[in-house]
Amino acid sequence: MTDNLIWFEDLRRTDVPRVGGKNASLGEMISQLGRAGVRVPPGFATTARAYRAYLAANDLGAVIRERTEALEAGRTSLQEAGHAIRQAIVAGHWPEEIARDIGAAYRDLARRTGREMPAVAVRSSATAEDLPEASFAGQQETFLNVSGEDALLEACRKCYASLFTDRAISYRRIHGFGHEDVALSVGVQLMVRSDIGASGVMFSIDTETGCDRFVLINGAWGLGETVVQGAVDPDEFRVFKPFLDDPALVPVVARERGAKEIKMILGGEGEAVTRTVATSMAERERFVLEDAEILELARHAATIEAHYGVAMDMEWARDGETGELFIVQARPETVEARRGAAALHSVTVRPAGPLLLEGLSVGHAAAAGRVCLIRSAADIDRFVDGAVLVTATTDPDWVPIMKRAAAIVTDHGGRTSHAAIVSRELGLPAVVGTGTATHLLHDGQDVTVSCAEGDRGRIYEGLGGIESEDISLADVPETRTGVMVNIANPSAAVRWWRLPVDGVGLARMEFLVSNEIRAHPLALMDPDAVEDPEARAAVREMIRGHANGAEYFVDRLSMGLARIAAVWHPKPVIVRTSDFKSNEYADLPGGRGFEPVEENPMIGLRGAARYYSEFYREAFALECRALKRLREEMGFANVVVMVPFCRSPEEADKVLAIMAENGLRRGEAGLEVYVMTEIPSNVIRAAEFAERFDGFSIGSNDLTQLTLGVDRDSEALAPVFRERDPAVLWMIETAIARARAAGRKIGLCGQAPSNDPDFARLLVKAGIDTISVTPDSFMAVKRNVAAAERDESGAEET
Ligand code: PEP
Ligand code: MG
Repeated sequence: MTDNLIWFEDLRRTDVPRVGGKNASLGEMISQLGRAGVRVPPGFATTARAYRAYLAANDLGAVIRERTEALEAGRTSLQEAGHAIRQAIVAGHWPEEIARDIGAAYRDLARRTGREMPAVAVRSSATAEDLPEASFAGQQETFLNVSGEDALLEACRKCYASLFTDRAISYRRIHGFGHEDVALSVGVQLMVRSDIGASGVMFSIDTETGCDRFVLINGAWGLGETVVQGAVDPDEFRVFKPFLDDPALVPVVARERGAKEIKMILGGEGEAVTRTVATSMAERERFVLEDAEILELARHAATIEAHYGVAMDMEWARDGETGELFIVQARPETVEARRGAAALHSVTVRPAGPLLLEGLSVGHAAAAGRVCLIRSAADIDRFVDGAVLVTATTDPDWVPIMKRAAAIVTDHGGRTSHAAIVSRELGLPAVVGTGTATHLLHDGQDVTVSCAEGDRGRIYEGLGGIESEDISLADVPETRTGVMVNIANPSAAVRWWRLPVDGVGLARMEFLVSNEIRAHPLALMDPDAVEDPEARAAVREMIRGHANGAEYFVDRLSMGLARIAAVWHPKPVIVRTSDFKSNEYADLPGGRGFEPVEENPMIGLRGAARYYSEFYREAFALECRALKRLREEMGFANVVVMVPFCRSPEEADKVLAIMAENGLRRGEAGLEVYVMTEIPSNVIRAAEFAERFDGFSIGSNDLTQLTLGVDRDSEALAPVFRERDPAVLWMIETAIARARAAGRKIGLCGQAPSNDPDFARLLVKAGIDTISVTPDSFMAVKRNVAAAERDESGAEET
């Protein structure tokens, strides 16, 4: 360590004024987290003092002053001023003492690593002495694969010069920083060969919702720049943090394959030049990380976050020669940290036209407006304020128009791309990685951009309606009766993570089959038997990259359910096995040839009857396998399994036997099995059902339909579909009384209390244990439950 140069291991995060944020953070990790297994490539940083000494030795202060004053006075252009300053800096000579220090450190690095002329990455880390927190991220340059002392000194000069890129100069002018108040520290770090490996970005929280239970990892082949800039559609992984300490579990809860069409590699042996090339078919099909690597990175993320005490944004790289994983950057994540936790913002979109396009959603907002298609940064002056910006990709030069956009749509990029990060900061809806937006949308077209529907961002034709509502989380009353939520969509679960629920009362598996799996299970098991050629091709395409169709089904289903089970873990999550009707199954891609045509599917092969039928039995086995994996391998033992539409105790016995054959045995590994109370027979023979199941959940939708003989889907009969009809109420009250008499738990998960929060009072009076409602009605129901409980205790006292 000298005044000019400090090894990373001697740096702490408090050294920002001396070496800038990037280098201080690398030092902090090497010195403090090395023992915890976080691997950071070794290296050193030059100090702000060295930068100033270089300027002084070459009298560069005068050049900088003269040129920037001319710029302010309008006597020269930004391009001219920038160019002249950069040239002067690169042409400077090194004060001997600094060159000696850098050379000695480089040779030291060679000795330590046992390599003769080790390749290093040379990165700029800007710092403003008075304002150590200022963010100059991404403005200065990086030089990769530099080897040899002379090349290193040259790269360091270029880093100094990059403090005066046009972009950096205008940033300082806009934000009122003096050009001479900023200094530059150069980080010299042993090169990770991710050019022949992989790299990406990682967050220690869910960036869209701020939910702190997940680590989000993005990755692509080659150098990390493509992911950071959003030039590539990366793979995306999600990990449930609380299970990372248990080595027996594999809590990877999402694995989405990105297109990964390009990668950035080094220009050639010994050349500090990068180029972008197309990836091979095999690379596109494969995930860049295996489960063990995903978990290793996630553990590092958790360690780094715990050390800093705040949510973190990190970059990782895998060396293609050694296979080792490295953390190459870490900084606090700021957007979610700024957002208040007191309210939940809920947005509803009513599209005015058909769906045009989908991509990854960023944020939860929605906007309607006119498309402004801009193909290159040179055309950004054409942008119309308040328009929907449609472009291939964005970089920092685009920020001025992004600030004036109603929404942003890009062809390329993942959730950690430049476009995504800036949109999130601006609170704008953005749909990134659509693949074809610049081809499918045209200038002047009216569209609605919706990020309010979960993970997938959607663009609809026309100007649709958008409603937003703030749901306050203040003053949530305590209740004895559990209030749970009905959740069918994993991304919806994460969005509502701040709701203080008592668990998930109903997760309808069929919704996951249609959204996450998107094919009939029997078609997946036997794609050759799919009659329609288009559907057959689609099913085969889905399975690609998986061992077979059954594995695809089990894998996607267990991960989708895991994302629901994770959000409020360890609170109970009741997952109901599939309850499609035969017409709905037939409508799934590939489904047609596998399903019988029924006159009355609503009272046909539904629920239990289907599971033990000859034709569906093997598909039900897959449902069981997914549930077993979810509970035992991933670790979500909070999952309760529920059987829908079970007409008799005899049917129940058959289904329970099949479940047991497939590894789901009641009572084993803590497994509880519930049954829906939604057919009058469930109420009439409640005592017999109670012998077979651990609990009940009343499905008031089917129970009303079957008690009154009213088709629940008939618009004409809607006025007579009344859950408050005395006959239906009798059914509900009797079901509750009989369950209690048998010592079994009973809840209700039908739509009634969601539509009519006051209905909850009736249920509390009848002695129900839990009520499960749609998340948007949770607060209203919770208050009604509290009021009913107060009435009850008042009545007891008098
Ligand atoms: C019900 O019948 O009330 C119920 C919750 O199930 P589904 O609406 O899915 O039939
Ligand atoms: Mg039902």
